[in-house]
Amino acid sequence: VPEFRKDPVTGRWVIIAAHRDARPNQFPQRPAVASTTACPFCAETMLTPPMVASYGAHESRPWQVCVVPNLYPILSDGDAFVVAPDATGLYETATSVGMHEVVIEAPTHMTSMSQLTAEQTRLMLAAYRDRMQVMRDTPAIVCAMPIKNVGPDAGASLAHSHSQIVGLPFVPPYVEAELAGAARFLKSHRECVFCSLIREELRADRRTVARTEDFLAWCPFASRFSLEVWIAPRDHQSRFETSDDLLLEKLGRLLQRILRKIESHPRITAYNYYFHSTPFDSDRDDHYHWHIEIIPRIAKAAGVEWGTGVHINSVTPEQAAIELRAQT
Ligand SMILES: [Zn+2]
Ligand SMILES: [Zn+2]
Ligand SMILES: [Zn+2]
Repeated sequence: VPEFRKDPVTGRWVIIAAHRDARPNQFPQRPAVASTTACPFCAETMLTPPMVASYGAHESRPWQVCVVPNLYPILSDGDAFVVAPDATGLYETATSVGMHEVVIEAPTHMTSMSQLTAEQTRLMLAAYRDRMQVMRDTPAIVCAMPIKNVGPDAGASLAHSHSQIVGLPFVPPYVEAELAGAARFLKSHRECVFCSLIREELRADRRTVARTEDFLAWCPFASRFSLEVWIAPRDHQSRFETSDDLLLEKLGRLLQRILRKIESHPRITAYNYYFHSTPFDSDRDDHYHWHIEIIPRIAKAAGVEWGTGVHINSVTPEQAAIELRAQT
């Protein structure tokens, strides 16, 4: 069973999940031996716990997109987040209560989101929304996040197009830092910082990758990663899980357009994305604005990044926007 451990100096939680070492890997190891076992996410050879949701059933096929519990979860069922100190008082652990699910984005072996149909992309986003609603209604969970890892350098172990949704019993540090910054900005400027940023990016138009009636995709001013792209609704919206079907359809079209640019860029072989949305334990909807952060994994984080937390980015966000706009 995975376990949360709290760092006694910083108070940062770490998930210790030794069982995940046994996960199958479809990517060649060193020395190169490609996995020859059947794909656990293809409908015909599926090897997962039973589905918790499925979408897009037709006469000819039982599903287009489905959701299953992660076979190697980093979080497990439980009613409450209980933190227990040990006898020394130094070391605190907690049960790894939460949810860890996998969204399988196609019944046949697709290895990239670019290959998904518009319908599959829309259904994938509907799965994110619906499962976040389930997590919101689960008492122990306060923050849920859809996450995608593409390519072994971004931490993926299976090539079949999929994403994960994690539901955590606390607000993780990155979201907490964004929430605190957004609260400070609201106090001094009386406006949501994201709304303010989006308005300025649209006006200046120096880092825009794409804009639609409803969304902006741009390279953030202080991007940590080369060719990093964020997507956010242009109107103030604090919670992704309240999105309606029409908005998801529009988001799906834009997300796929941006990911095609990312996937076809000659320097990008791996990337992650994740959704940030207002935590469930907050009743405030005025300052945090849901958004997607897409981070290409071109350079490996090195000593400076690990030691200082300061990222070094070798492509200016302005140049990144030019390159990504040109990329089809
Ligand atoms: Zn497959
Ligand atoms: Zn806003
Ligand atoms: Zn964020």
